[in-house]
Amino acid sequence: MDIVCSQQELRLFKNIGDAAARMNVSCYLIGGFVRDKILGRPTKDVDIVCTGDGIALAQAVAAGLPHRPQVNFFKNFGTAQFRFEGIDVEFVGARKESYTMDSRKPQVEPGTIADDQLRRDFTINALAISLNEDDYGKLVDPFNGVGDLNDKIIKTPLGPDITFSDDPLRMMRAVRFAAQLGFKIEDSVFEAIGRNKERLKIVSQERITDELNKIMATKKPSVGLDLLFRSGLLKEFFPQFVELSGVEIIEGKGHKDNFYHTLQVIDNAAAKSEDLWLRWAALLHDIAKPATKRFEEGHGWTFHGHEVVGERMVPRIFKQLKLPQNEKMKYVAKLVLLHLRPISLTKEDITDSAMRRLLFDAGEEIDDLMILCESDITSKNRVKVKRYLENFEIVKERLKEVEEKDKMRNWQPPISGDQIMELFKLTPSREVGILKTAVREAILDGVIPNNYDAAYELLLEKAKALNLIPANQVK
Ligand code: ATP
Ligand code: MG
Repeated sequence: MDIVCSQQELRLFKNIGDAAARMNVSCYLIGGFVRDKILGRPTKDVDIVCTGDGIALAQAVAAGLPHRPQVNFFKNFGTAQFRFEGIDVEFVGARKESYTMDSRKPQVEPGTIADDQLRRDFTINALAISLNEDDYGKLVDPFNGVGDLNDKIIKTPLGPDITFSDDPLRMMRAVRFAAQLGFKIEDSVFEAIGRNKERLKIVSQERITDELNKIMATKKPSVGLDLLFRSGLLKEFFPQFVELSGVEIIEGKGHKDNFYHTLQVIDNAAAKSEDLWLRWAALLHDIAKPATKRFEEGHGWTFHGHEVVGERMVPRIFKQLKLPQNEKMKYVAKLVLLHLRPISLTKEDITDSAMRRLLFDAGEEIDDLMILCESDITSKNRVKVKRYLENFEIVKERLKEVEEKDKMRNWQPPISGDQIMELFKLTPSREVGILKTAVREAILDGVIPNNYDAAYELLLEKAKALNLIPANQVK
């Protein structure tokens, strides 16, 4: 097989082949590395399969390499791994697997290379290339994986019901590879996913979410998300997202299908940024629409407060999906809460004060919020989209103006709560809050300029009303 490898890769493969020959075992490159080389994609990890003991081979190879990389191994799985000059190399002894219905843990026994290829998830992932002296570089392709790479199709080596029932995560992987590679899942395989989708419940949420995030990281996440939806997999682990789908009609009035609207928003955001968490904010921005949906007589459909309810749903969903419970979650929740703010400005007279408030509330997230909000402009009516986008441009311009004029980015009031306490010798109390808010509001409303002296003047005035005297004036 003609594939292009670096000098460094070739050196590594020669070492592996030589070590295998000394140990009298045969070994092959297998899986994603071979697939990606044939496709001409950048490759990541190198997977090696050998007859016999994979851990022993890894150790023998590592011992012969410059700097003797350290080998990490998992005895239970018979796998070993090391890093060589930035390449992640994984070894496994060829095995034969059989599964029982109620568990993901297979019965494993040593097998031939052919047995091992049979337990791989897809024909395009079962391709092997020999590293053995007598047939070095020969492609071993028992299931016509190369044909499927050319036809851009995802098929399973065994019957798909067996493959998916054995390890249901493979259903997620089918969708993920289809999304990453732009391939089609063969009809019979796609139907098998529909039949086996409930088996996903025996898979850990971490592994499912890993695949979901790989789908979210693709150029056009809607492709994979729609496959998850249509196959029924999405409902198994993320029913709140599926709830967004469908259109209800009352008195001849329908609302948009919020599932497909959301997919469009994610794609729009993905076209502007690679940030995974911004994409998650796009996914979740309307998540509370089903919960807040009302039909108002004579008016139509409303979703009042969906941004507030949505913000509150974010932590629960992050927990359910085993997404990180950290500042990323807070970032997503914040964007969900604020997602209507910039667009609402296009409907009113855009005052400096409204701009300052937006800048203050969004803080560091202002640029991402603007991307999300612009991405949210979708409609079947192109004229409408064009008009909204033009209005949105005006908001963007005005925002820039106010930001430059008032230096509002990441703004903090010129007098802090600590300074107020110091000034009036106060301990944390209601008064401190009142004074702090008064200063902030006066600046945001443009009543006083954004500087210390003006803030100090105002503070004295407000303090008087509260019968407070600055400590330096107490006699
Ligand atoms: P990528 O590294 O881009 O995610 P990959 O195909 O290399 O894609 P890995 O998870 O690295 O995927 O797995 C390496 C190989 O191991 C796969 O190509 C496949 O042959 C096999 N494999 C991985 N996971 C499974 C699974 N759940 N069931 C069967 N075979 C699997
Ligand atoms: Mg890989």
